Amino acid sequence: DESVQREALVAAVENVAARIESEKSHLTDLDSAIGDADHGNNMHRGFQAVAEKTDEFEGMDVDELVKTIGTTIIGNVGGAAGPLYGGSIMTASQELEGGITAETSVAFAEAYLEKVKDRGDAPVGAKTMVDALTPAVHTYKKSIEHDDLPPLTALAKAVDAAERGVNFTVPLRASKGRASFLGWRSVGHQDPGATSTLFILEEILDTASE
Ligand code: ADP
Ligand code: MG
Ligand code: MG
Repeated sequence: DESVQREALVAAVENVAARIESEKSHLTDLDSAIGDADHGNNMHRGFQAVAEKTDEFEGMDVDELVKTIGTTIIGNVGGAAGPLYGGSIMTASQELEGGITAETSVAFAEAYLEKVKDRGDAPVGAKTMVDALTPAVHTYKKSIEHDDLPPLTALAKAVDAAERGVNFTVPLRASKGRASFLGWRSVGHQDPGATSTLFILEEILDTASE
């Protein structure tokens, strides 16, 4: 029922906001190596704003609630990450009309990935959030649709895949985003946006496991 899902979403928002807060300087350090040292602050500002809105979530359908998360991120994160995270959440929220099920969660994940790729035009291997997101979404979809696993198990596998994706960004030469301005000097550094994507997925998994 939607009120249970709404409560779970509020808990997820709070957990993600707390995690981003505790990782703020970590994310900024990663961005200072290959960007402009603002990713931690950008994400923190955005998720604080979302966490402050949870009162307004009461009475919303889950698709509307998730859409509001997206628009709040667009309005508060800024940089490259704001429209990528916020715009993609906003668009993908349409898939959650009628609530969250195994099926609609797969549709949401796929729509989110598609929108990130549309907007940012980064293929896998460009050293961006796409490198964490793509294996996570593919693993989630396959685990549910092909292996018939329960959503929680599928999500745990997706988090593992995202973690491998984050590690995969380290040796890459960036070809999208600010890090690409560094050319070969971007090699050997972990991508900040792939890292924040992993943190968010870890917190969603933790919330769903409770
Ligand atoms: P900015 O680079 O504008 O300062 P942030 O520091 O908040 O924005 O976010 C940087 C992150 O955004 C990068 O680490 C990368 O993961 C992601 N990113 C940048 N450009 C793109 C893109 N074109 N497609 C996908 N992700 C991107
Ligand atoms: Mg930056
Ligand atoms: Mg910036």
